[in-house]
Amino acid sequence: MSSFPVLFDLGSTRPTTRDIARTVRAGGTAALTEADRRADQARYQEVTCRSALNPVKGMPFEWTLNPYRGCTHGCHYCFARRYHAQFEMDSSDEFASVILVKRNIVAMLARELDRPSWQRQYVAFGTATDPYQPIEGHYRLSRALIETLARGRTPFGLITKGPMVVRDIDVLREHGRTVRNTVYMSVPTVDEDAWRRLEPGTAHPLQRLRAVRALVDAGVNAGVLMAPIVPGFSTARHKLERTIMAIADHGARFVGCNVMYLEDGTRDHFMGFIDREFPAMRPRFEKLYVKKYPPETYRKEVQSMVRVLQDRYGLRQRKEADAEHSSAAASLDSEQVAFAW
Ligand code: SF4
Repeated sequence: MSSFPVLFDLGSTRPTTRDIARTVRAGGTAALTEADRRADQARYQEVTCRSALNPVKGMPFEWTLNPYRGCTHGCHYCFARRYHAQFEMDSSDEFASVILVKRNIVAMLARELDRPSWQRQYVAFGTATDPYQPIEGHYRLSRALIETLARGRTPFGLITKGPMVVRDIDVLREHGRTVRNTVYMSVPTVDEDAWRRLEPGTAHPLQRLRAVRALVDAGVNAGVLMAPIVPGFSTARHKLERTIMAIADHGARFVGCNVMYLEDGTRDHFMGFIDREFPAMRPRFEKLYVKKYPPETYRKEVQSMVRVLQDRYGLRQRKEADAEHSSAAASLDSEQVAFAW
């Protein structure tokens, strides 16, 4: 029986993301009857992408690469939640439970890198959703994309919270023989309570740091992004210090940080989470997040504290490590000021 009887004939081809959006608009995600429900209870919808590399403006890189949309890691602060609305899905439950899999992305990337016009610019890999979320163990798209980037001699930086990235140390090293790559492991905090509350589907922070250790020991340029640091959850000085100590202990080659920002569907989801789980914190968040970012003075306080601690524990800043990729990192102010919430 056809899965998309009203809107299009699925036949032997997979729907495009636009087809998915039309289908969901007409019948909700229940209309995605071809989506494969797996043991984690998430549904996986294979799609055909029309391009692998997406051009971006106003960022320190020009191209992004994302094999999946939606992420079962389900972090409550995830900025990518708002992008799920592009597919007519909600930024709360459906972001973490209906995942689009770009089944043809490897072939598409190979074709794009073969074009004479491709100038081997730096590619930001995993900017929208995690390329090493659990389903990667099944599809292995991220691994094949690294192999393709290696053949295309294209530099990249990959961001993930998935320790599964160590599975691909061999292809990362192979890629690194001819062109630079960097793995940015996202570990916002090692505080167990904050991790459990904020990142319900991710691996334990220390497991992620052990992955950093394995990557560095294998010769891969790998470091940590404390991204995002969440006010009230991971900003206390002792939590920042424990996190940076742990990062240093695991041999990270650099560290960077940013403070959570909230926009559109991400804001709606996060505030709903606060209302449900921590209603007493609501007034503080409303005051801090009048705009999408907290006030600059607040962000500088956090960044300054991190800067002081990373100097203390001998960690390079991300912007130093990034200089070779001409990827501008957020400037970290060295001024230290009192910091509370
Ligand atoms: S792992 Fe990254 S992409 Fe996935 S939900 Fe968390 S922040 Fe979003």
